[in-house]
Amino acid sequence: MNDDQTAIQIRDLNKFYGPFHALRDVNLRVRNGERIVLCGPSGSGKSTLIRCVNRLETHQSGSISVLGTELDDDVDNIDAIRRETGMVFQHFNLFPHLTILENCTLAPVLVRKSSRKEAETVAMHFLDKVKIPEQAHKFPGELSGGQQQRVAIARALCMKPRIMLFDEPTSALDPEMISEVLDVIVTLAREGMTMVCVTHEMGFARQASDRVIFMAQGEIVEEAPPAEFFSNPKHERTRAFLGQILGH
Ligand code: ADP
Repeated sequence: MNDDQTAIQIRDLNKFYGPFHALRDVNLRVRNGERIVLCGPSGSGKSTLIRCVNRLETHQSGSISVLGTELDDDVDNIDAIRRETGMVFQHFNLFPHLTILENCTLAPVLVRKSSRKEAETVAMHFLDKVKIPEQAHKFPGELSGGQQQRVAIARALCMKPRIMLFDEPTSALDPEMISEVLDVIVTLAREGMTMVCVTHEMGFARQASDRVIFMAQGEIVEEAPPAEFFSNPKHERTRAFLGQILGH
């Protein structure tokens, strides 16, 4: 069912919130090292889809496997998948009462059983990578939104995930902070991190993705490499969305 090339395999996935059908027969295979941008109108199920991948939401039918592990009710499987998938949220979700360094070392110490010293070394490595090592001893509330989001990325990387899931990582940021966060994600993309990024940043999609997937009303409507997706969208709904978002 799985092979070394496949990071995420989703088959015939259906997800309901009560009577509301949020994901409809979604099929998606993400290859190792592939960079996917998920776009589409608000409410189309993008966030729900990536939240299903690490079981922040449960699906009702169909299957998801991540790096060969089937996502079912087995808590060992869920834990294994969560260890391999870093997640970055729109609203950062840092622990406000912990310093930046403590935010970054908490999970490695508790979950990966790293020593504190080792976890701090790794944390400083990734804080350096997201270009804010000097903020390590501050609290999240003392940082700008762009800095907090870079901490959230560093925190996820400290768990050494093989896949990164980004849920609109720049949409809560002031415009002048968007590029500092996207630059970090572009660097990760260039280094070959497997990633699925929900975003409206079409410049990022062009620059850093291998495939753009357009969702509407819980379905994958269209997918293509960015050059093709932007120059030759096939479906009317995709054209309407791009017209709206790109302003033509
Ligand atoms: P997107 O990320 O594309 O904006 P979402 O995945 O957040 O879309 O939401 C898809 C649909 O599911 C929306 O109609 C939303 O209102 C609904 N939805 C999302 N989360 C919940 C929830 N916890 N309970 C009920 N409905 C939800």
